[in-house]
Formats: sequence, structure tokens, C-alpha cells
Amino acid sequence: MNILVANLGSTSFKYRLFRMDQDGGEVLAHGGYERVTDHAIAIDDAIATLQRDGIIQSTDDIDAVGFKTVLGKDLSGCVIADQSVIDALDGFADVAPAHNPPYANGIRQFAKALPNAKLVALFETAFYQWTSPASAHYAIPKSWRDIGIRRYGFHGASHKFIAERSAELMDRPDVAETTRRLYLDGQQAPDAAPLRVVSCHLGGSSSVTGILNGVAIGTSMGFSPQSGLPQNNRVGDLDSGAIPYAMKKLGISVDEAARQLTKESGLQGLSGVSNDLRDIAAAANDGNQDAHLALDALAHSIRHWIGAFMIELGGIDALVFTAGIGENNTAIRATVCNGLENFGLHLDAEKNTATRATEATISRDNSPAKIFVIPANEELVLAREVFRKLS
Ligand code: ADP
Repeated sequence: MNILVANLGSTSFKYRLFRMDQDGGEVLAHGGYERVTDHAIAIDDAIATLQRDGIIQSTDDIDAVGFKTVLGKDLSGCVIADQSVIDALDGFADVAPAHNPPYANGIRQFAKALPNAKLVALFETAFYQWTSPASAHYAIPKSWRDIGIRRYGFHGASHKFIAERSAELMDRPDVAETTRRLYLDGQQAPDAAPLRVVSCHLGGSSSVTGILNGVAIGTSMGFSPQSGLPQNNRVGDLDSGAIPYAMKKLGISVDEAARQLTKESGLQGLSGVSNDLRDIAAAANDGNQDAHLALDALAHSIRHWIGAFMIELGGIDALVFTAGIGENNTAIRATVCNGLENFGLHLDAEKNTATRATEATISRDNSPAKIFVIPANEELVLAREVFRKLS
């Protein structure tokens, strides 16, 4: 089955064409467009390029297109991307203005360009469909809850991949199979011994998710991708009382407050140096105290959420690091794992230092709980879920 994974940003379009079968998949082609003003033109050009390069003979050679849609309020899961998905994305565009409109437009455009292809949406919220009401709800008035304000969670594709892969690495094929079939069967409750995993997706945006037997029990992100850990430019968790206070004291509008909290906050806001952890670490090495603070605040927040999920899970069997920072930043991993031996997590300092951008076990051989680095590959996750959905 040939599956095109479409990654749509507000001014970008990237794609990867996979050939998928039961055993996995291979990438047939990939490409991308920046500074896109009209997604329709970029999408038509990508399809024409695939034909011209002989990757596909006709548009019918693309069997399916997968979309990593973000937020659809009550609509979630891995679903056929029909009009109900477009309506759900349009209906919540205010909450995810950078993400929802390009996906709604992209789905419309692909439906025109590839009328015979199956279109499938995998919502970033999908992995959290089975979290408890207690973890999903904020203590807000009912009228707020009625307009859809609750904890949705994001990075679902990435954390689900970690759930599946960590179960394989922990030699728990039963749990890996539960996760593999999650969007087909819904939650299953295996009778087997619990497998308790905490997954840290640390990248441009970051989140920590608690996973029991392959199913998420909670996550650090909430109503919008604004919450949880400090992100590159986004604030992360913030006391709601700070917003009206800052608006009055600084004389700024709601829109300006939202802009500052999404563009000038997070690691950028704290460090005043950069939104990239490499630059921040270099500045900290040169003695910049604000850069130090940004590094410390990120590690503190990661540990805060790991601790929360270790309690909820009743312990931990595996701690996983993934995405740009999680895969590459050995110092953050060491800081996060510092002093966690009482919880069964013994980092092997040498293995940690030697591991970058590759899958590895970085705990000591005799560590009761494992620590893994598992590279993220979100396009492949999409291709796999689309293949499962349609097979
Ligand atoms: P995004 O969430 O935008 O996909 P990434 O997952 O690539 O971003 O994460 C970006 C972050 O990861 C940056 O803060 C950067 O410092 C860090 N990072 C990415 N690649 C590397 C690398 N090779 N070495 C060290 N840090 C890296």
C-alpha cells in the first residue's frame, strides 16, 4: 500500500511517500515546500513531481494520504478524513490557529487532487481518549467545560510509538500488540502484570506522558499545546491569575498577551538567548545565568511530570527519552535522572554520554527500571497507523 504522509504547516508542506506492508515500510520519496502561500499549488506540484520522477505512474498509485491533525474537540482517534473531520478542524481553529486551518485546507485539496485515494486523519489527541475524567478535566465552571475546555493532550503519535516500541524492548509482546491495535479495538485491559512507562518527548515542543500497559493515563499538555513543560517559545504551565494581572499592569490586549505567551516565552523567554537548547547550553557554559535558569527550569518541569506519573502508575518500569532534545542532549538526560536510584532508575553515565540520535538502553545493566532513548519518526508512525486502519 502506497501511503503519502502530508505534513502541513501554516506556510509549509512536507511529504513522505511510504510503501507499507505487514512487516513495515520503506520511504519511496520525500520532498517539501517552504513559504507556501497556496497549499493547493504545492500539493499539485508534489503529485506532478512524483509522476515526473517515475515514483508513481498515475495518481491512482497513491492509495492513501495520512494527516497528523491536531485538535478536533470531540472528534479524535484515527479516522477517515471526511467532511466531519474538516468541520471539526474548522470549529476549533481558534485554539490551534497554526495547525487546524492548513490541515482542513490540505484535506480539501487532496480530496480534489487524488479522488480515489483514502484520506485518513490521525489526531494528536487520539492517544488520550482513554484517560480518566479526573485527569482530563480542569476545575472550571460548567459553562467553560461545555464549550470544550478540558485537557486534550498532544504528541499522541509520538508517545504511542514509544508505548509500542518500549513494550517490545521490555519483552512484552502482549502490551505491544494492545498498543498496535489501540485505534482499532479501543482500550483493552490485559490481565498481565502491569507495564509502567513514562515517555518524555522533548523537542521544539515537549510533553511527558504516563503509559500503563500501552495506553496513556495522562499527559503534561492540556487544552492547547501551550501547557505543560516550557516549550521553545511557548510558556508551558502558567497560573491563570498571571494573565489578567499582566494585561492590566502592562496595558496589553488579550491578543498581545497570547502572542507573547506563544512567541516570546518558554526557553526563549527565560533564557533571552534562543529557543534552541544548543544555543542556550552554549550560553550557560559561557556563564549566562538566564541560560542556566532556562536549562534548570526545563529539567525541573520534566522531573515534576515524571514524578506525577510515577505516583499515578504506582512505580515505573521504563523511562523513555525521544525527540530532538531527548535523543541528543545527554546533559538534560543526566540532570533529569539524577538521584532517581531510589525509584529503581540507575542511569549509566557512559552509555548516556555515548548515545545520540540512536536507539539505546542507557540504564545500568542491573537497574531495576530501564532507561531508553528511542528516536521519534512521526511520519513512519502516521504511515503505520494509516496502514493498520485501512488493512
Ligand atoms: P521539533 O519539535 O520542532 O520537531 P526537534 O524535535 O528537532 O524539534 O527538537 C528541537 C530541539 O532539539 C532543539 O532545542 C535542539 O537544541 C535539540 N536538538 C535537535 N537536534 C539536536 C542535535 N543533533 N544535538 C543536540 N540537540 C539537538
